[in-house]
Amino acid sequence: MNRARRQAIFERLRAANPNPTTELEYRNPFELLVAVILSAQATDVSVNRATPGLFAAAADARAMLALGVDGVRQHIRHIGLFNAKAKNVVEACRILVERHAGEVPRDREALEALPGVGRKTANVVLNTAFGEPTIAVDTHIFRVANRTRIAPGRTVRQVEEALERTTPAEFKRDAHHWLILHGRYVCTARRPRCDACTIADLCEAPASVRDPGRARATSARRGGAGSAVARKSSRRRAVGPSSEEVDGGG
Ligand code: SF4
Repeated sequence: MNRARRQAIFERLRAANPNPTTELEYRNPFELLVAVILSAQATDVSVNRATPGLFAAAADARAMLALGVDGVRQHIRHIGLFNAKAKNVVEACRILVERHAGEVPRDREALEALPGVGRKTANVVLNTAFGEPTIAVDTHIFRVANRTRIAPGRTVRQVEEALERTTPAEFKRDAHHWLILHGRYVCTARRPRCDACTIADLCEAPASVRDPGRARATSARRGGAGSAVARKSSRRRAVGPSSEEVDGGG
């Protein structure tokens, strides 16, 4: 994709949503960090249901440490993987208290040293809590970047690097929010809503994504075996990276 088209895509996404942010509810960096740890392979809606009670019981790292794993578990038991997440949250709080005076560090290496915090979670915290122009690649961004060809890559890290390299500076801080929201609500995994897409004329997705019914019919007319392979590879493209490649949400 050329620079002018990439610029136009971000201008459209910005015009539609000038001040994008995470759908996770939080009031400070500590709450955002905990919410993002909880959101790994879970929906923001399920996290937002649990965190008001959790933060009422423990408003900072010291209080969360005192609440303990069993106490945290009581508040998050409706979120997937809650046992492991309760342990991660409490251990992360222990490190915050012991090494960072109870504060969330504005430092990638220190963030990634916390249990339950991978590169993506660190990027979300640096971006959303501290305003840094990091781009956190989740399953939605991975799919949108590859489909549209705005930043293609075979792995999450390749897509992140491509976005870092090619996203115009003026859009960098908000790019990951626009792309996540676009992937979550418009360019969805199974049935992208191309008819309602604000960047449809700029998108470079192949016909197999934009109009799968028509692409299948054409492929079937041309020969059976080839169409089966096309269906398989189209399904693979729609799903995105493996879950191991993508940590928390946001
Ligand atoms: S046109 Fe379709 S495939 Fe392209 S970004 Fe929009 S929804 Fe996604």
